[in-house]
Amino acid sequence: MRDHRELERILRRLNGKGYGAYKDIEGVWRFPDFVLFVDHVQGDPFATPSRLRVRVPMEVAGIPRDFYRNRPRKVALEDFLVRVLARWIPKLTKGNRGSGHSGRFAVVTFGQCILPRTAVWVTEDHVEAILAVGLPAAGRRILGHEAAEMLLSELPALVREGLLFRNLDKAALREHVACGEDAEALREQLRERKLVAFVAEGAILPRESGISDRPLKEGAVPFEPPPSLAVTLERPNRGPIRGMGIPEGVTLIVGGGYHGKSTLLSALAQGVYNHIPGDGREYVVTRREAVVIRAEDGRFVCGVDISPFIDNLPNGTDTRNFSTQNASGSTSQAANIMEALEAGAKVLLVDEDTSATNFMIRDERMQELVAKEKEPITPFLDKVKPLFRDYGVSSILVMGGSGDYFEVADTVIMMDAYRPVDVTERAKEIVRKHPLKRRPEGGEHFGPIPKRILDLSSIRARTPRGKLKIRATKMALQLGNSVIDLSRIHQIAEVPQARAIGYILAYISENARRFMGKPLVEILDEVERTLEREGLWPFLPARYGDLAAPRRFELAFALNRLRTLRLRD
Ligand code: ADP
Ligand code: MG
Repeated sequence: MRDHRELERILRRLNGKGYGAYKDIEGVWRFPDFVLFVDHVQGDPFATPSRLRVRVPMEVAGIPRDFYRNRPRKVALEDFLVRVLARWIPKLTKGNRGSGHSGRFAVVTFGQCILPRTAVWVTEDHVEAILAVGLPAAGRRILGHEAAEMLLSELPALVREGLLFRNLDKAALREHVACGEDAEALREQLRERKLVAFVAEGAILPRESGISDRPLKEGAVPFEPPPSLAVTLERPNRGPIRGMGIPEGVTLIVGGGYHGKSTLLSALAQGVYNHIPGDGREYVVTRREAVVIRAEDGRFVCGVDISPFIDNLPNGTDTRNFSTQNASGSTSQAANIMEALEAGAKVLLVDEDTSATNFMIRDERMQELVAKEKEPITPFLDKVKPLFRDYGVSSILVMGGSGDYFEVADTVIMMDAYRPVDVTERAKEIVRKHPLKRRPEGGEHFGPIPKRILDLSSIRARTPRGKLKIRATKMALQLGNSVIDLSRIHQIAEVPQARAIGYILAYISENARRFMGKPLVEILDEVERTLEREGLWPFLPARYGDLAAPRRFELAFALNRLRTLRLRD
């Protein structure tokens, strides 16, 4: 293995040469404290930055095994180290040193969630970190001395401060790891307690703004569980914790406008992920199989059985195999539910703010005016109970606008100036006092949830010229020449997750023979097992550091919105 002194000589020799000559440094370099892998060298200063990987032997990094002895701890430790590196980069590196990305160091971007990431990887043997580095140039001429300073002085400093245990803030690390492990443990207790979600006493749910996921700093009312719904769960690190338990079944969140209903539901939606200390939602946890359902007019739908909700369309379309390039509000919401159920959802989270009214309710007067035979839609109101009875799927609904749902609710929580009140008994009393004259239209049973078998050749991650193309933003994922709309998939926490979805879809398409003929749900099972056992690596063509693991649901939701998708005949 060549050593760092030789790397320095080469870099200085490259000074002034054409940018392409940087390729000479691809390979492996021994440094005193670590090994540097120059995995990829960018083609020019404006191209995607070069990929560098540092591997620090555990004897040098010195992180006690206790910090990564189980999966939740390991994930939290790695997440912590990513954040430490990100904090040190502006302090220890000079930054811009020339044209394009010259001089810049970067790790993956991240938000408020503790997620399994590829940027840092801890094993008993070593700690690895992947950095994006803009190799410096003036115009297209190599700045060799600057490069030498970056790789031989700035990089070792980053490794020293960011990856060596002795330099880390131990209290913060301990807190981060405990927080991740405790949240995971809380989530695991939900099922046996027959709960679908838990919101800790004192949790801060509101966010700083509509475009920021950070906690609201001033004037936030801490969460206070109503006594009748209070439960105490155990945490392995910080002991018992009290909070509101939301039971399985149908739960309504009611209350006046602007009283915090949607804020509570959003926190529950994000409760499928663990959060960093200080987020306010550290101990707000929801069953992992909870998905947000909304109306999404204009979306593409591929061969979904929406017949439990929609039947007898005026144009004679078969709603057991419903496809469209342009769904309406109600058909899109029906498709979203059916696809979520197919993927294995156990809790549906529905907000009236983002629902189609005619999908949610159909009242007595409308029943009288528009006969059942003339209305293709069976409202969710008439299916929410059978869904729980037949499939054990719970629902949490924000519903400030219709009391018809009292009829089917097991639990009713009223948000009153950001404080939850258990009004279940009062709602039941109202049901007795004002019985509904509307006729239920949903029948005894929910109906079938078919398992679709997809034509995997309809997933194309390459451009017609054969180039793998995956680009993600918060709003969209480009896969080959197709663009998938992600703007209304609420539980993609970060862009790195969207990117990972792109690579997993590409993997499924490139390994179509392995998956061919299997129902989508089995493909999701397999992907999920691999993610749990081996992380994202098996899905990636190379060691990319800018990815975070998605859930099976967001993977399925993205695939379902791919406009080239077809069912197998
Ligand atoms: P609703 O859905 O009931 O109409 P929202 O959940 O949209 O209400 O909340 C309305 C406003 O109140 C939002 O600006 C939100 O950030 C804020 N808010 C929500 N919960 C709290 C809280 N616990 N403390 C302070 N402000 C809150
Ligand atoms: Mg609202």
